[in-house]
Amino acid sequence: MNLTRLAGNERIKEQLSGPARLPHAIILGGPQGSGKHTLARLLAQAMVCEEPGEAPCGVCRSCRQVEKEIYPDMPPLESFVDPKDREKKGIVVETIRNLRRDVFVRPNQGRRKIYRIDQAEKMNPEAQNALLKVLEDGPDYAAFLLLTENPLVLLQTIRSRCVRYDLAPVFGPEALAFLKSRFPQREERALQAALDASDGILGRAVSRLEGEAEENPRIGEALTGLAKALTHRSELELMEWSVGLQNDKLTREQLGQLYQSLLEAMAAALTGAPAGQIWRDCLTPRQQAELSQLARTGLQAVEGNISPGHSLGWLAVSAWELLRLE
Ligand SMILES: [Zn+2]
Repeated sequence: MNLTRLAGNERIKEQLSGPARLPHAIILGGPQGSGKHTLARLLAQAMVCEEPGEAPCGVCRSCRQVEKEIYPDMPPLESFVDPKDREKKGIVVETIRNLRRDVFVRPNQGRRKIYRIDQAEKMNPEAQNALLKVLEDGPDYAAFLLLTENPLVLLQTIRSRCVRYDLAPVFGPEALAFLKSRFPQREERALQAALDASDGILGRAVSRLEGEAEENPRIGEALTGLAKALTHRSELELMEWSVGLQNDKLTREQLGQLYQSLLEAMAAALTGAPAGQIWRDCLTPRQQAELSQLARTGLQAVEGNISPGHSLGWLAVSAWELLRLE
């Protein structure tokens, strides 16, 4: 199978390298942003690709339809949700029963029918048992892709019917090359900073970079304010800076951007780039490295749902302490 469009994950690539027919029931595990959807798309394309040779070709009609999520024999799960169940949380048994009825209608266009279930852990046990039946007795042409952040939450009976591929974080040159191909205009430094803050989860790095692309003047202003307070070596000014932003009701998302931008600013400072000059004027390299670490910690706390007020207070206090470092 041709998996060049999936970054990293050599183990999975090896497992899928042979010409053997793909399994019909597959669990794709891994954190959000780790590539589950990319791999699901490639698997679905490989199942229905119309070209001879190593699949997927990525360009035939079926491959393109899968890419655009309009392949006629790959109905979205939402199409099986009863109107009366729309408000319900999770994936209920009626939805899976509706899906099961559809499974026995032969494919229109190709050889296979493919069902992708995102957040498969949201199926309650009743729904999973309904799915189990069709995994066991479904027609040959039916394939199931179960995506989940936590495969162990699925019933053992489901797991034992499926082949499981766990997506792994991607680091190093391969991760950077992936981001470069997605963001050819961005500086390598920015890509590296996003990567460093993403623990090898490329989807996270991509959302960061996409978020930053929508320039936010407020964030720039906030960073300048921080640099000023640090230049003046003023604890009061640092506290006022933090309280000012809290009063501004900075959203969690903006706070994440603030830390992200701070991380990039420190990378600029440490590498001697012109954009880092204001930081080099007020902080030693060791302090810059320390502030970079604070930004990374702050970013992680934002993902952990910390309140912006708390986080900004912590940053001001930590930045003040950092000034005592030589
Ligand atoms: Zn194709």
